[in-house]
Amino acid sequence: MIPPRILVLGTGGTIAGAGSSATGAAYRPGGLALETLIAHLDALGLAAQLVPQDVARIGSQDIGMAEWRALHAACMGALADPAVDAVIITHGTDTAEETGFLLDLTLPTAKPVILVGAMRPADAVGTDGMRNFANAVKVASDAAAAGRGVMLVMGDAVLPARDARKAATSAIDAFRTFPRGPLARVTPSSLDWFGPPHRLGEPARYPFPAELPRVAILTAGAGMDAKPVEALLGIGARGIVLAGMGQGNAPASVLEALSRAAASGVPVVRASRVDEGLVDRNVEVDDDALGLVAARALGPAKARMLLMVLVASGITDADEVQAAFDRG
Ligand code: GLU
Repeated sequence: MIPPRILVLGTGGTIAGAGSSATGAAYRPGGLALETLIAHLDALGLAAQLVPQDVARIGSQDIGMAEWRALHAACMGALADPAVDAVIITHGTDTAEETGFLLDLTLPTAKPVILVGAMRPADAVGTDGMRNFANAVKVASDAAAAGRGVMLVMGDAVLPARDARKAATSAIDAFRTFPRGPLARVTPSSLDWFGPPHRLGEPARYPFPAELPRVAILTAGAGMDAKPVEALLGIGARGIVLAGMGQGNAPASVLEALSRAAASGVPVVRASRVDEGLVDRNVEVDDDALGLVAARALGPAKARMLLMVLVASGITDADEVQAAFDRG
């Protein structure tokens, strides 16, 4: 069998991180070149041809439009190239949720695109990076991996990028998914899908934006007033995501200010600061009367990403924004 040819796009993160000691806490994410990582992988004897391409060597807290543009272009190139079977993106875990969701929204599903990261630096005792990478290669090499949207491989699981979020700061098993569960369990020697590909032949849902508009997340806190909403409008926010209490709640004065923002053409989406769960329309907040949108299953970080993509596509009407969030 001809080994699959996999484009590996490096961005940095802990998977490419190195510290001064195998037992110390301090390290620099993205300190290792992708070539060095791949050289380590050679020793694992993986049955795949890995083609490395450095996009960045950063902690993913610093990722932004320049890197996303480069990643999207490289993925589109790989999708069009018959010699490439799949794409693996090495990425910091802090914002894997955002990059994964942005690519999920803007790429066709024809070939597997997989993000992989690590919670422990490459030279730390008990590092998880090589195992996660070997698992990602196992997934990328499988014909049944296409047609599932962008995926995140972490902790011996294959997670749908649109449902995954980082839920722990340092545990190896750091990611959770909502509302759907993992797509598969994976180890370097086994891969068990829980169902058939569910997004076969899907085109990109949205065009990749030329620029991303300023969309802010406002976290609600007990006793707050409406001044932060006014401040966000004052710096030119083109959309606001409320990380509200419970099912997207906020003090009445804040909701009133958000309603005024919505009436002025700045779409407002109510998400939740709670770790997991749906935010539905018209539960405690009268979204119909206030002109607000309910984030449904998307948490604040992903709600912000979808709202940026929508606003960039000229979609700001509350009903249309709600329809996009309802698609989940
Ligand atoms: N903050 C860094 C990043 O997201 C390191 C964390 C990690 O990769 O797990 O790139």
